[in-house]
Amino acid sequence: MSLAHGRSYLAIPGPSVMPERVLAAMHRSAPNIYEGDLVDLTAQVVADLRRVAMSTGHVAIYITNGHGTWEASVANLVSRGDKVLSLQTGRFGHGWAAHAAAMGVTVEALDFGLKTPVDPGRVEAALRADKGHEIKCVFLTHVDTATSIRNDVAAVRAALDAAGHPALLAVDCIASLACDEFRFDDWGVDVMLAASQKGLMVPPGLGFLWVSEKALAQTRAADLRTPYWDWGPRLAPEFYYQHFCGTAPTHHLFGMAESLKMILDEEGLPQVWARHRALARAVATAFETWGQDGDIGLNVADPSCRAASVTAARIGAGGAERLRAWCENRAGVTLGIGLGMAAPGSAEAGDFLRVAHMGHVNAHMTLGVLAVMEAGMQALAIPHGAGGIQAAAAVIAAEA
Ligand SMILES: *Cc1c(COP(=O)(O)O)cnc(C)c1O
Repeated sequence: MSLAHGRSYLAIPGPSVMPERVLAAMHRSAPNIYEGDLVDLTAQVVADLRRVAMSTGHVAIYITNGHGTWEASVANLVSRGDKVLSLQTGRFGHGWAAHAAAMGVTVEALDFGLKTPVDPGRVEAALRADKGHEIKCVFLTHVDTATSIRNDVAAVRAALDAAGHPALLAVDCIASLACDEFRFDDWGVDVMLAASQKGLMVPPGLGFLWVSEKALAQTRAADLRTPYWDWGPRLAPEFYYQHFCGTAPTHHLFGMAESLKMILDEEGLPQVWARHRALARAVATAFETWGQDGDIGLNVADPSCRAASVTAARIGAGGAERLRAWCENRAGVTLGIGLGMAAPGSAEAGDFLRVAHMGHVNAHMTLGVLAVMEAGMQALAIPHGAGGIQAAAAVIAAEA
């Protein structure tokens, strides 16, 4: 029998669960795109995007997804033949670097594997070795969604400073913004990337770049810009349509205004971070308990390097894949697939999954996912330590 009928729950790391209020705000006819309310609403969205990133910098909005923001960042930051330093802790860092390489940029990569965060000492050494300052930009992924590693942005900034290197620091926060603490100004970030469909709780379709004054000044001669991706008119539009290089993403803007109000003016950013952290702790605690008597483990051993938005884990002997299928077909919960953790078709390919807890997610949803997973492990006879749900509930009881 299947018990999946009812409201299904997509616990994958994007698109995330969208609040009914965001969907309702989008459910209307299109406004005038030349003047009136939409112009004021866009100014409010831009102001709120600064607040959500704790940034006084400029904001460019693109009709695109996360991959598009990678391309936008490369197009505006560097020139053909320039060098970037890519810091990799999973699939997403590799993806950004691949876009840069395909655009004619030389990529120097530091790969920190799939289990541990960026080591700022190695970054500093690589920058010190670059005596001619050929590296124009350092690419860092705040939370790599494939591994659920969270990197220390401030520590990487400190490494650039310690090396006395003028490279810009660009950070991909697509999986972390409005989930994990992030401070654009305080942490000395030059460019930051995000997209609408993760912590920002809006359907996929918008990508954002935050840009510091220093980044603007240092990149005036960048020669990879094409009209659509050029951030110049978007950052300082003379006419409204230049915000978007064409028709505004009208309905996404209504959704963004609503979600930013919920995050900034109702719950409050520090509380949003704290909620995600508490839910992440509950998820980690369940996995740790299950792992006490089974071939089950979190991908990231050090709690201080775990994302607040997503948890990558391993269940051996193909257990992850079997459990994902059971949760979706029998209980209405879709878990995230393992990404980049094992070669497709290899013996380990079915051993990895991810549980997302990003955006519009609360205690009952997270405990629900965990309880369904535990039921699935029972049904599938996947060996696991007892008491995972009890342990997760204790975390929620202590935090709520
Ligand atoms: C989701 C994600 C991306 C890619 O976003 P798309 O919208 O799927 O193109 C890039 N980087 C990170 C860290 C992500 O989580």
